[in-house]
Amino acid sequence: MRELIKRLPKVDLHCHIDGALRTRTIIELAQLQNYKLPTYDEEELKKYVTVSKSCRSLSEFLEKFEIFYPLLKDREAMKRVTYELIEDAKKENIVYLEARFAPVLQSKEGLNMEDVLKAVLEGKKLGEENFGIKCGIILCVYRGQPPESWYETVELAKKYKDKGVCGVDLAGDESRYPAKDFKEVFELAQKYNLNITVHAGEAAGAESIRWAIDLLGAKRIGHGVRLKEDRFLYERVKNAKIPLEMCPTSNVHTEVVPSYKKHPIKEYYYDGIRVTVNTDDRGVSDIDLSYEWEVCIDEIGFKLEDLLDMNINSIEAAFLDESEKNRIKELIQNQTSEILKGRKNDF
Ligand SMILES: [Zn+2]
Repeated sequence: MRELIKRLPKVDLHCHIDGALRTRTIIELAQLQNYKLPTYDEEELKKYVTVSKSCRSLSEFLEKFEIFYPLLKDREAMKRVTYELIEDAKKENIVYLEARFAPVLQSKEGLNMEDVLKAVLEGKKLGEENFGIKCGIILCVYRGQPPESWYETVELAKKYKDKGVCGVDLAGDESRYPAKDFKEVFELAQKYNLNITVHAGEAAGAESIRWAIDLLGAKRIGHGVRLKEDRFLYERVKNAKIPLEMCPTSNVHTEVVPSYKKHPIKEYYYDGIRVTVNTDDRGVSDIDLSYEWEVCIDEIGFKLEDLLDMNINSIEAAFLDESEKNRIKELIQNQTSEILKGRKNDF
């Protein structure tokens, strides 16, 4: 099944660039930057920078970022990891990718947010050219960072709109920094006509999703796991067909849900919520999108045809113009039927 899933054309809408590093790349970046790692052996280092399959703790998950994060405050590093993310996406036939990051987290003295963005856009352009994948960049306004950085992020998204940036997001610690506190900056994003997605209903309750939609103008919700806590809102999201960018493995690892079986994705999907399947932090979680499809089938109980349907949800929810969206949708449908031709009886 994994081989078949790997070949099928897929879409990932929720993927963090800074959570997507290869372990080998961390070692090479450390050598280039004279940065001390606990070990330079790839297998050994993997234990420090990726979670185990049995991880059920947000703090364990976040710890993994600390080891390699300083390496990313660097132009070449950001260009490279963006490029490699697209290369990895190509290997499992992701045909459309939205990759996100918070420019403020990679900036430092002598490297401003725009410099970091330019490096990411260079990596993206090179990756798109070499691997024939369409990739959009989403800029994350980051909770807990100074308000100036929120506005600068939105201004950058406006400046580079149609030049590689396809939208803005609100990321970071949702439990400590409620979405409603970001109303003003997202009003500006709405004024600029930017596509908006918001991490909500992951570490905080359904109220967070309501603020994201009503106050921040979110067109999509990152995760939205806790949507069912508010039945009225649940019906609204369902009727308005607001897509949820769901990432089951990430939610299991960070203990948003106790297990795959307890994840609400299947219940939401069969009830008519517009669900999509994504990776979140593919490097730290040590997964790819094919793995995510596999656990959806093996652990959560979806059928392959459900995944194919959710994949269409993804491309329809993409922050793309209509003609490009239709082109990729057609490509997905053609490739899928070609691959599945004659295999009908296998399922
Ligand atoms: Zn995320």
